Amino acid sequence: MIKIYLINAILYHLTYINNMDNKKYNPLTPEEEDIIVRKGTEAPFSGEYVSSRGIGTYICRRCNAELYRTEDKFDSGCGWPSFDQEIEGAVKNTTDADGVRTEITCINCGAHLGHVFTGEKLTKKDTRHCVNSLSLKFIEDEE
Ligand SMILES: [Zn+2]
Repeated sequence: MIKIYLINAILYHLTYINNMDNKKYNPLTPEEEDIIVRKGTEAPFSGEYVSSRGIGTYICRRCNAELYRTEDKFDSGCGWPSFDQEIEGAVKNTTDADGVRTEITCINCGAHLGHVFTGEKLTKKDTRHCVNSLSLKFIEDEE
């Protein structure tokens, strides 16, 4: 009897922990999972934020952490939303396995965002965060 009680208690606890984990992050569509979890790249010029306007903040689509401000967004012509600076401390840089490109991820949840490039001289900061629209969600500033 005690054994059964203990197993039930453990199972209940595990389910609880599992639910807590699920609650931490927003549910993702299969397309979003391809990018955010499996580090894919959306087709150029396909994303909703490639040339979006408006003043506000881009947050992580999975965990809602603030990642980029519209002041730092620029039109790079590359087909993906481009920023020359992240919100301080929001993004982690990691060298890709090929040793060439630098992957950028959300510091809070590890979501794949895209890649960061330097030396292109596109802006004064000479940095381009090339980010998938599917990794982001735009929150317009309130008036
Ligand atoms: Zn995140």
